[in-house]
Amino acid sequence: MEKGILLIVSGPSGCGKGTVLKYLLENKEYSYSVSATTRNPREGEIHGVSYFFISREEFEAWLSQGKILEHTVYCDNYYGTPRAFVEEQLEKGVNVVLEIETEGAANIKALMPHALSVFIAPPSMEDLENRLVGRGTEDEATVAKRLAKAREEMKLAPTYDVVIVNEDGAPEKAAAQIHKAVTAKKTV
Ligand code: 5GP
Repeated sequence: MEKGILLIVSGPSGCGKGTVLKYLLENKEYSYSVSATTRNPREGEIHGVSYFFISREEFEAWLSQGKILEHTVYCDNYYGTPRAFVEEQLEKGVNVVLEIETEGAANIKALMPHALSVFIAPPSMEDLENRLVGRGTEDEATVAKRLAKAREEMKLAPTYDVVIVNEDGAPEKAAAQIHKAVTAKKTV
């Protein structure tokens, strides 16, 4: 059976990645890899769905047991991709979506060169700032930290296979563009 495609998706915090991926994941050819993190859950986030929210000790144990495919430290917390789920799904022919930051994306791309990397960019930095502040899920210091990080991340957009601008109010369009890129890769 043909293996699934590993789809790496990055984009600065507040660029609307979550909504774009929600549309993409309505297509049953894709499954979402739930990451593990040591950060606290935001309101509405569910353990095992949004993330596996685990302690620092547990994360370090998973790391030493080889259960994590790639990981990073982002704004003082660990984030990592559980290995088993990704391998099982790809083996079954299902495309797996990894929503990860730029460092993890580069690591995975080096490890698995057949993966397709997609960078979702906001229409502008001003737009991103408005979205992050408007979201109201982080305090001022965290927003400032995430904006500084976003500026760094934007510089890496050209290193991805595909860059997609998430225009305001058109996340379905961005999702359709991603699906098209995956389909094109499958036929190569
Ligand atoms: P947030 O705290 O906003 O949910 O995520 C912060 C950043 O961590 C985002 O850029 C997100 O894509 C990234 N991230 C989430 N899970 C993982 C993971 O498993 N590995 C890596 N490398 N980054 C992750």
